[in-house]
This record gives sequence, C-alpha cells and structure tokens, in this order.
Amino acid sequence: MNNIRTQALVIGGGPAGAAAARSLAEHNISTILLERDLSYTKPCGGAIPSSAIAELGIPESVIRNHVTKIKVFSPKGESVAIDLSGGTFCITERHELDSTLRGIASDKGAKVIESEFLRFESRGKQVTSVARRRDNGEEFKITSDYVIACDGITFRAAASAGLPKPGFVYTISAYLKPEDYNSDTCEFWFGDENSMLSYSWIFPASDFLSVGTGNEDPRLLTSTISGFMERRFKMDINDIRKDRFISKMRAFRIPVWNKPVYNLDNILFAGDAGYTVMPVSYEGIYYSMKSGELAAKAVAAGCPGQYKKDWTRAYRARFIMMSMIRKHLLKKTDNIERWILLHQRKEVQEMAMRLWLRKEASRSSLLSYIGLFRHIIKIW
Ligand SMILES: Cc1cc2nc3c(=O)[nH]c(=O)nc-3n(C[C@H](O)[C@H](O)[C@H](O)COP(=O)(O)OP(=O)(O)OC[C@H]3O[C@@H](n4cnc5c(N)ncnc54)[C@H](O)[C@@H]3O)c2cc1C
Repeated sequence: MNNIRTQALVIGGGPAGAAAARSLAEHNISTILLERDLSYTKPCGGAIPSSAIAELGIPESVIRNHVTKIKVFSPKGESVAIDLSGGTFCITERHELDSTLRGIASDKGAKVIESEFLRFESRGKQVTSVARRRDNGEEFKITSDYVIACDGITFRAAASAGLPKPGFVYTISAYLKPEDYNSDTCEFWFGDENSMLSYSWIFPASDFLSVGTGNEDPRLLTSTISGFMERRFKMDINDIRKDRFISKMRAFRIPVWNKPVYNLDNILFAGDAGYTVMPVSYEGIYYSMKSGELAAKAVAAGCPGQYKKDWTRAYRARFIMMSMIRKHLLKKTDNIERWILLHQRKEVQEMAMRLWLRKEASRSSLLSYIGLFRHIIKIW
C-alpha cells in the first residue's frame, strides 16, 4: 500500500475543508485535501449573507441571486416582511460553490485527491490515515502531523477516533422551477404544521427554488414537506412533483450544536463535523468556513488547542443564545407566535438582521444579540 507523507491532511472538501486547505496552503504548509466524490452536490439552501462573501473569499461569480427581503410566517399564519437594508442573502448552488472553493485551495497549493477517508490506522505525534481512491478502489496511507476532519455529518473521522455522534435535526428538500415566485424574497414558515423545532423554507435562485423543511422527527418529513408545498403552491403534491420538480427530494441531517469536541491532540474537527451549525437559523456555510480557517490557523501556529480558544472568543456566545432560543422558545407554539410577531417592531427587526447579516464578532453585535434576547425573555 502506498504511503504519502504530508504536513496536514484535510478530510472532506465541502466549505469547511476547502477553507481549511486554502488557509493551510497560504501558511505554506504542505496539505492534502481528500474529497470522496468531486461531483457531489450537498442538499442545501446555499444562502450566505452578503457581508460574509468578501470575508470568506468567495468569488461573486457563484452568486445566483441576491435576496433583498425575507418573509416570516407564524404558526397562525401571520406574516412579517423584513427588508434586508443592511445587506442581502446571496443564493449559491452547492456543487458550484464547493468546487470553486476547492479550486481556490488547489490554486494556493493544496493537493486535492478524490478519495474516501476510511480510518485512522495509528495516532500519536504523527497520524496515519487509510483512504480509498475513487478511480480504482485502491487503498493507500497518508501520514501527517495534523488532520483537520471536515467530513460533515458522516463523522467518519470522529468515529474512528472514538467520538460519539451529536443529536440531529432532520431535513428534506428539493429544487423546484422558479415559476410564479418573487425572486427577491426568502420565506420561512414556522409552526408544527410546517416543521417541528425548525421551519419550512423557500430560497430563490435565478433558475431554481430551494424548498425544504426541518424536523426533529425524521418520520414526519415526507408528510410535512408535502403538506407545506400543497398549502404554499396551492397545488396537489403529485402535480408539483410532475410539473415543478427539478431535483428529487433528498433527506439530510443537520448536527445540533452541543458541547463540540474541537480537537483530540493533533486531530481537529471543523464544520458540521465540529457541529458548527447555528441553532434556529441552521446557517452552516459561514460558520463551517470560519471554523476551517481557525483550525488551520491553530495548526499553522503548532498549537491545536488555540482553535477552541479562538472559536470560543468569536462565536460561542451566539451559539449559546441561539441554543437557548431553540430549547425554550421553539418548543411552544404560543411562544413562536409571539416571538415572530415581536419582529413587526422595526427595532427588533434591525437587531435580528444585524445579528444575522453582519458577522463581525464586535461588542455592539453581541449587545444587540442580548438586547433581542431580553425582548424574548419578556414573553416567556
Ligand atoms: C437541507 C439543508 C439546507 C441548508 N441550507 C443552508 C443555507 O441556506 N445556508 C447555510 O449557511 N447553511 C445551510 N445548511 C447547512 C450547511 O449545508 C452545512 O452547515 C455546510 O455544508 C457544512 O459544511 P462542511 O464543509 O462542514 O460539510 P459538508 O458540506 O457536508 O461537506 C463535507 C464533505 O466531506 C465529504 N466527505 C464525507 N465523508 C468523507 C470521507 N470519509 N472521505 C472524504 N470525504 C468525505 C463529503 O462528500 C462533503 O463534500 C443547510 C443544510 C441542509 C441539510
């Protein structure tokens, strides 16, 4: 079996892995990025706040649409329309986004290999990993000083290192034709009918709508998405499938953020593999890329423990707040109703949007976060 030597191995070529590999290569660290399937398209709404595009080094060419408004529907069907005056939501298509980001990592010097990580063979000062090539099925070994595991919800690296899996929110989604839909608006529908502890969404690109739903109970996914589409598009689900579907419905899991393991010695976990999806909004692209960058920075400094410190300083408070909202507020329909109606107030809209659209971890954004939370506490 061939044995390749590199300073850093990145497992998984989604946004987290591509950002980690790019950052490692920029630090002149020899890097291999393993992606098991370069033609893979992750089921995802692909929405990224405009303020994050330059920060993350994402080329504008992958933006399929700029959404300028969101409409949030309460369990009782009340709606709140919000103009995103502080920015836009950029809608991307995930295959295009991921392959573009991997291309940037490769241009910076990372070596991208289409192979599947199978297991860690040995761990210690150096880590030996076993992988299988996609083209000929051959197994080979990679010995590295560091590993950044970005293999998403497969958790293959974490399992091989003996870690348990987190809890999940379950999703189902499809791409639909964008007929009769306002391409400037993202919709979020709350309430048990539309979702449990999550929401149903419509995110418009220029040539497709991403339509989906999240749920705590995977057995409810199919009936919930069918009911949502029928109500929203006022059509029978069979007609929607026949006339409007561009892709099949695909189920997928989102990790619930809770006590993540940042690193086991020289193996670091980033992106979904490190649970970095924001509770309630389920925004993961930004946080997965930032975690990949921070993990790479810690590796470059020769200090893997720095990753947890940097992440905690920048984002932990937001994740704790949103976890509390998820846990306490989304569990009761009346609370969701009042929480959404609270957003009819201009100042609450501004606070919520500042939080969502502007990612700088400044004192003022944190204070507005707490300000929003205080409004919510009043209704508990
Ligand atoms: C339905 C849905 C809608 C979403 N919508 C949004 C949204 O609109 N905006 C947003 O910000 N977030 C959204 N998210 C969350 C977002 O998709 C994820 O948080 C993000 O993709 C995480 O990036 P990642 O790189 O950590 O993992 P992934 O994107 O899952 O990438 C992991 C990569 O690792 C590869 N891989 C897996 N196992 C192995 C292995 N053993 N060896 C080699 N390679 C491997 C996979 O092929 C994949 O390319 C959504 C999630 C879902 C499920």
